[in-house]
Amino acid sequence: MSKERLVVIGNGMAGCRAVQEVLKRDPDRYEIAIFGAEPRVNYDRIMLSPVLAGEKTFADIVINDEAWYAQNGITLHAGRAVTGIDRERGVVLAEGGIEAPFDRLILATGSDPIRLPLPGADLAGVVTFRDLDDVEAMVAAARPGARAVVIGGGLLGIEAAYGLARRGMAATVVHLVDILMERQLDASAGFLLAAALADKGVETELDAVSEEIVGRDGRVAGLKLKDGRTLPCDLLVMAVGIRPNTALAKAAGLKVNRGVVVDDQMRCSDPRIVAVGECVEHRGQCYGLVAPIWEMCKAAADGLTGAAGAYEGSVLSTRLKVSGVDVFSAGKFAGGEGCEDIVFRDAGRGVYKRVVLEHGRVAGAVLFGDAADGAWYFDLMRQGAEVADIRETLIFGQAATEGLRGLDPSAAVAALADDAEVCGCNGVCKGEITGAITGQGLTSLEQVRAVTKASASCGTCTPLVERLLALTLGEAFKAHTGPKPVCGCTQHGHEVTRKRILAEGLKSMPAVMQALEWTTPDGCASCRPALNYYLLCAWPGEYRDDSQSRFVNERVHANIQKDGTYSVVPRMWGGLTSAAELRAIADVVEKFEIPTVKVTGGQRIDLLGVKKDDLPKVWADLNRAGMVSGHAYAKGLRTVKTCVGSEWCRFGTQDSTGLGVRLEKFMWGSWTPAKVKLGVSGCPRNCAEATCKDIGVICVDSGYEIHIGGAAGLHIQGTEVLTKVATEQEAVWVICAATQLYREQGFYLERIYKWMARVGLESIKAEVEDPERRRALYDRFAYSQRFARIDPWAQRVAGRESGEFNPLSRRMEFAPA
Ligand SMILES: Cc1cc2nc3c(=O)[nH]c(=O)nc-3n(C[C@H](O)[C@H](O)[C@H](O)COP(=O)(O)OP(=O)(O)OC[C@H]3O[C@@H](n4cnc5c(N)ncnc54)[C@H](O)[C@@H]3O)c2cc1C
Repeated sequence: MSKERLVVIGNGMAGCRAVQEVLKRDPDRYEIAIFGAEPRVNYDRIMLSPVLAGEKTFADIVINDEAWYAQNGITLHAGRAVTGIDRERGVVLAEGGIEAPFDRLILATGSDPIRLPLPGADLAGVVTFRDLDDVEAMVAAARPGARAVVIGGGLLGIEAAYGLARRGMAATVVHLVDILMERQLDASAGFLLAAALADKGVETELDAVSEEIVGRDGRVAGLKLKDGRTLPCDLLVMAVGIRPNTALAKAAGLKVNRGVVVDDQMRCSDPRIVAVGECVEHRGQCYGLVAPIWEMCKAAADGLTGAAGAYEGSVLSTRLKVSGVDVFSAGKFAGGEGCEDIVFRDAGRGVYKRVVLEHGRVAGAVLFGDAADGAWYFDLMRQGAEVADIRETLIFGQAATEGLRGLDPSAAVAALADDAEVCGCNGVCKGEITGAITGQGLTSLEQVRAVTKASASCGTCTPLVERLLALTLGEAFKAHTGPKPVCGCTQHGHEVTRKRILAEGLKSMPAVMQALEWTTPDGCASCRPALNYYLLCAWPGEYRDDSQSRFVNERVHANIQKDGTYSVVPRMWGGLTSAAELRAIADVVEKFEIPTVKVTGGQRIDLLGVKKDDLPKVWADLNRAGMVSGHAYAKGLRTVKTCVGSEWCRFGTQDSTGLGVRLEKFMWGSWTPAKVKLGVSGCPRNCAEATCKDIGVICVDSGYEIHIGGAAGLHIQGTEVLTKVATEQEAVWVICAATQLYREQGFYLERIYKWMARVGLESIKAEVEDPERRRALYDRFAYSQRFARIDPWAQRVAGRESGEFNPLSRRMEFAPA
């Protein structure tokens, strides 16, 4: 009896694996012919990365050599692309006029790499990364010292850049978003990856939009970015994604959406034809990794050999193939609603692990620096195993957890062997801890930390150490009391966090979280705004404000009210206004039907009941009249309240209004640990109520009394006198210097009066009364004001105004020593 004819289109990973699976099940059933557009035998495409890096040769990555085709009686048409499928005749048409009749057909045409339609995309030296020809083109262009740019910071782009760097090129990855491999990694792992790549000679440009490929003499010479920069390069690799190769299927009239549509037996809309691999769309899903393909091929082979198999979709995991950079990611690695994170960081070893739990089961994981347990987490995830009983040791991996399942947590800890590592950061075993507790009479966590170093770094093992204390000491164990941490994500307090940001040059949120071994992946609503402030304060002009770490009020420049509407407070410098401003406010009130207009205690006009959708338009109209946000919501300078002073008042001793206006114009936009309100009164009658402000000025005949540390909210407190100066200029210097000191020392959300109580008035006095130190503080304040956040409408104002009002050209006044 003659055999059925099985034709395969695509000699790649899926096509050949499907044939292998068929042969495994029924080796004699089919007469097989395989068409491959590439002029070579079947090879392991995923290993092209090590070939590019020079770590393997093509011969090393061949999966099936010519002998395999011959032994299995397979006719290979290598280098012959199929040009059409005649379903009516049951024939495949290929280049070279070849016709191959089929009874069953396997479509395995893979994907095409996407080419961005940028100007210059057709220049010589612009390549994609898909097959051996691409690798050969890259290797030919890779001269030591030459420069390569890779567009795309996904798995493929990173592997391409690493390979080129290994070949001596200066490689830069240009990525559209601010996290490398954002489909597989969270911000913390992405940050570590960028740092590890930098160590391997691969630079990264994040948040970078490619605009044009620049050429010279018909060859690529650089990549122009939207921000105006051009990155010079001799080779440009586009690794921006793939698109299922569906052209043949479409032309043959098969059902195609994004990919070729198949059922659970991998059958297309014509049941004689099955499709496998990246060209497929199964249950609405297209895949770009090999693991699902292996499962698809089994189901397809079952169907082709008369067995009942089904493919039901795949759960994915990813590993990066960059030598020395251990990365694993699977499932819901970024957590989400209803998920819980267990995080482990070891700053010394550059390790970050995050296991995501949902309903007591592993839902995802991302591992950086030590991915040995990736497969174990992935297994737990796929099995949907309950992990409540191993939660305590889960993050330490399989070795620490195995054998403890089913025990209650205390019994599990008791069952740990003496040489089981408890503190990964400091390499401390259980036996060392219990030995120290009994041998040295330790009774508290602090003592255990001091003696053994266990739990002294990231703190993730703290519950374990506490349990060991409790087990060893019973009642004698005293619970830990230490400095109040910033929040539950860390063991460190504000002071340590601020100091280490400066001392260790930590310039991004992931950098801080890794170095200080945060126990959560991205921090929380408490620590993120604090870190954002500390970083802004520490690195003016270098650190970019993270608006996502700010409350909605700060993003929309308005205060959310209890009914969901907003209140808008335009800035009125020193409480002064004009007919034009009042007219603009009145127009806005009428135009947007703002229900309530109210004068505030800080001498501003509050527009209450503004609808969220109206906010941009309200601000645009106010801006046209030259008004900017009053930052009435901000942890920053709010208002400078003034009285009319010597200009109008019979008792006024100095120009208090002028000083207030000057201070506000110079200091606005300076972020501070908590809100800051100022007041300037023209005489001791104190009409501006300056002695209950954070910083107040009482003008007297002989000069200016500077007060500090008042409060008139939940807490009522009069100010203390900080110092007295003779001139207005000195008053400005002192106030800015004191504000800067507060900016540098205050803990996030700590008002000035609390900071003062903590550090002592005398220490603040000592700083601002010493000419050298005052000058240095003032200069740092003035410098950071150059980068103070400038709102879009303020930029437009800045375009029209000049002098101090213009935030872009705020004058740098240096205080004389
Ligand atoms: C550099 C690189 C690294 C990768 N690393 C990983 C990794 O680490 N892990 C992972 O899981 N995945 C990785 N992948 C993805 C993985 O290689 C793919 O998922 C897999 O190769 C898809 O198999 P496929 O058979 O569907 O497509 P392919 O392997 O691309 O095979 C399709 C074949 O069909 C041929 N073809 C197309 N049209 C025709 C036609 N008309 N006639 C004849 N032949 C045709 C093509 O020439 C090609 O040879 C990587 C991919 C690349 C490029």
